[in-house]
Amino acid sequence: MKPLRIGVLAVQGNFREHAQMLRRLGADVVEVRKAVELDGLDGLVIPGGESTTFTRLMHLYGLDEGIRGFDRPVFGTCAGMIVLDREHLGLVDVSVRRNAFGRQVASFESDLPVVGLEEPVRAVFIRAPWIEDVGPAVEVLAEVDGRPVLAREGRFLVAAFHPELTDDTRLHELFLESVREAEVVRA
Ligand code: GLN
Repeated sequence: MKPLRIGVLAVQGNFREHAQMLRRLGADVVEVRKAVELDGLDGLVIPGGESTTFTRLMHLYGLDEGIRGFDRPVFGTCAGMIVLDREHLGLVDVSVRRNAFGRQVASFESDLPVVGLEEPVRAVFIRAPWIEDVGPAVEVLAEVDGRPVLAREGRFLVAAFHPELTDDTRLHELFLESVREAEVVRA
């Protein structure tokens, strides 16, 4: 099976950890800093970081239009989830509240039950957002205190936490499975 080519948006934030995890799972990883680097990718990860900085840099490099035109699976984590929401790129039908758990106190870990996974996922939340409102096509996969923190809408997977900061590769595997399924549909 030919390795999947996965881009990791590398303008800012936690891209190295995502790249490392994707390589461990056998993907060919491309660090994306320019829109042309999206060409030929099978999927894209938008990491955590600082969403206002992301928004500014993505606009500066034309990556906002590039990502709007990208038609393959996308996995956004933390700030990466924020930039995909209704108020930013408008690609996922959710409203996200930034720093929702509180600004300083709000970094914590939890064992998160996830729809479809047998064992809970160890989730690291760092000044994390939560999902405030979801559209009808959005499937909520996990919640903290009744607030959605992991969701899927079609080819988009979004997490409020940092799955790249633990040894647990299951969410990246879930994403790569959706990438492989999208490949099969296209073939
Ligand atoms: N608090 C950050 C923001 O609003 C997100 C934090 C993160 O990505 N770890 O952009």
